[in-house]
Amino acid sequence: MKLSIQDLQLSGKRVFIRVDFNVPLANGGTEITSDKRIRASLPTIKYALEQGAGVVLASHLGRPKGKRNPEMSMAPVAVKLAELLGLPVKLAPDCIGPEVAAMLPAPGEVLLLENLRYHSEEEANDPGFSAELAKLCDIYVNDAFGSAHRAHASTVGMIQFVSQAAAGLLMDLELKYLGKATSNPDRPCVALIGGAKVSDKIEMIENLAKVVDTLLIGGAMAYTFLRAQGLPTGKSLVEEDKIDLAKSLLANLGSKLMLPVDHVVASEFKAGAENETVTEIPADKMALDIGQKTIDAYAAVIAGSKTVIWNGPMGVFEMPPFDHGTVSLAKAVANSGAISVVGGGDSEKAIKVAGVSAQITHVSTGGGASLEFLSGIELPGVAALTNK
Ligand code: AMP
Repeated sequence: MKLSIQDLQLSGKRVFIRVDFNVPLANGGTEITSDKRIRASLPTIKYALEQGAGVVLASHLGRPKGKRNPEMSMAPVAVKLAELLGLPVKLAPDCIGPEVAAMLPAPGEVLLLENLRYHSEEEANDPGFSAELAKLCDIYVNDAFGSAHRAHASTVGMIQFVSQAAAGLLMDLELKYLGKATSNPDRPCVALIGGAKVSDKIEMIENLAKVVDTLLIGGAMAYTFLRAQGLPTGKSLVEEDKIDLAKSLLANLGSKLMLPVDHVVASEFKAGAENETVTEIPADKMALDIGQKTIDAYAAVIAGSKTVIWNGPMGVFEMPPFDHGTVSLAKAVANSGAISVVGGGDSEKAIKVAGVSAQITHVSTGGGASLEFLSGIELPGVAALTNK
């Protein structure tokens, strides 16, 4: 059974919280350009402190590949976290060893460990390293949903060496929204799936098709499906080797799967390129966005739904005006009043551009992890908590 941090007695205990503080950095690793990931775990950290625990925090940052690299130090994170918590945050010089053991926090104190990936044993899920990490605490908590699809020492390995393990509040929230949307959604439930390639999202389409009432397909992946239907796709992105797969998905999913009925096409792949909306893609043009009839049809389905799951843009939304379809549907999702669960990454950016972030029920903090979750793949970090 998977426990929540709220199920445990934390008073006087030392709690190790695996957080996802893999923040974007600039200026040689000295400046944090978005503190969103730090803020996302504040409720869990504050909760543990309020309950009287001493808190040890650990995360990876970037890809130092098993070596110390000052450009990927947790130092700026310690400063930012102290500011956000309004409490001192000590930074350990490493994540294991005697120097760290000498700094362990008393109740109400916070110690941030140095980058876990300074040790190659972290990604190798090394048992010796896992045991060393486990020595730092009485209780293990995983709040790093964004790293839960990785079986590393800090997300999986160390759990066997601790007496109690639980999910943090952010992890709980992610599993609650993603779990309900994919197992027992309020109906009608619609999935809006876009992005570049069918091949990246086959498992997600197949898995969501089992639970949703309608699948709305957009983005470049739609053209592989149109080709599978024998329709012209001009110079649009098509995965030739996935056409047969698209055919079988079309045959299996029938009317559950909706495809674009019109397209914004251009001769060049460029922001501001001259464009027109067509129902049949000309041989010398590429489709870069869904057209207005498609937007209206998809928006109508969304308006009538009680749950929307969204992953991937409807067009090349980085290049206006080809962001129109994605931004319009972001607004449709926001205005639907449905429970909306968004799988991070590009869809999250689109929601920001559309200015509707506040009306979205849940935006996942884990890009890769949410894609795997929506694909029905068991996340090792969650399985390890559940099997404890
Ligand atoms: P993904 O990471 O699979 O969600 O794909 C996102 C990418 O798909 C974005 O960079 C979009 O620009 C791209 N994309 C979406 N629609 C199209 C399209 N019609 N043609 C080319 N690229 C597209």
